[in-house]
Amino acid sequence: MSDETRLIHTGKAPAAPLARTVGPPIQKGSTVLLPNAEALYDDENHLTYGRSGLAAQAALQDALAALEGAVGVSLYPSGIAAISGALLAVLEAGDEILVVDSCYKPIRRFCDNVLKRFGVGVRYYDPAAAPEAVVGDAGPATRLILMESPGSLSFEMQDAPRIAALARERRILTAIDNTWGAGFTFRPLEHGIDLSLQALTKYVGGHSDVFMGSAAARDPRLVRALVDGVNNMGWAVSGEDAYAMLRGLRTLPTRMARHGASALTVADWLKAQPEVASVLHPALPGAPGHALWARDYKGACGLFGFVLKPAPEAAVNAFLDTLDLFGLGFSWGGFESLAISCDPQLRARRRRKDYGGPLMRLHIGLEDPADLIADLRAGLDAYARLAPA
Ligand SMILES: *Cc1c(COP(=O)(O)O)cnc(C)c1O
Repeated sequence: MSDETRLIHTGKAPAAPLARTVGPPIQKGSTVLLPNAEALYDDENHLTYGRSGLAAQAALQDALAALEGAVGVSLYPSGIAAISGALLAVLEAGDEILVVDSCYKPIRRFCDNVLKRFGVGVRYYDPAAAPEAVVGDAGPATRLILMESPGSLSFEMQDAPRIAALARERRILTAIDNTWGAGFTFRPLEHGIDLSLQALTKYVGGHSDVFMGSAAARDPRLVRALVDGVNNMGWAVSGEDAYAMLRGLRTLPTRMARHGASALTVADWLKAQPEVASVLHPALPGAPGHALWARDYKGACGLFGFVLKPAPEAAVNAFLDTLDLFGLGFSWGGFESLAISCDPQLRARRRRKDYGGPLMRLHIGLEDPADLIADLRAGLDAYARLAPA
């Protein structure tokens, strides 16, 4: 053999089984070598191409299926791709979907800019509407109801199990963006919801450095539709990213317990501050949606909202700009604390609600809550200097 040939045919995947590590190997491969000619064309029984995922992706899918109580889980390159992918997998021209008005804003963009263009009708419903009203408002073309509970800016809880039960009677599918519950504190499939969608980017990843999304289902026809949808769209996630998500899953319960407890400590403290009008955190006793949360969730995460007493925008900006431990940024679910003002995003909604003052959102990270509270107090002091007395 010449050197050219030798370089191509040495240094390949080992023939002997790999040493056993606790996690899966990170296999890299677009090409998958098949054992014989017949296997080349038998993609029912053989994985024939790396785009559908190798060892690390398969291990992540198994772990997520166990977590969600799912029959199948599809992976997507981002949370948005998981939601748009699940919708594209089950909808067709002439269908209509009902979407909660408190949904994550980029989903509204997808619905309005893409689904409508392909002949799918989109209507937004009030997150405060009773389940009977939501499902009662469905028409003959309504194929799916897309929920998000709690809404990730304004934290309205919906009775998702009840909406799912009523929708099922009318053969309407239900899906939920369960990023807040992370497939852990709330398990949508166990509550009769057909499609559990989440941005793994947030709590499962947990370190603010990897994008991925998942869609989980129990009904084998839906599982098949999701798999076909991923293939049709040509989406793939890398072995490295799947491995990072799997690593995140190992500590998800521990991190969630800490995020949840710290967020409640901070929320409780905020409620008592004179600058604060109200706290929007479903796990906080007395807060809106608490009864539904207590019925359906086994824990909370670090994300919640609060309303400042009315003040000029300069006071709100002074609050944010004074924060030191809280970064100003949109994501959440990572180890670090973040803050934003929600008002600019709320303007996209059909039904604008008056929260009684500027709506702020905090993500409580893994820092000591006492340090976070001191930081927030400094922010509120700066706010108070510019707010009306
Ligand atoms: C971040 C987020 C998404 C989208 O996830 P990406 O991975 O950023 O695409 C979807 N839903 C909610 C509620 C989110 O917060």
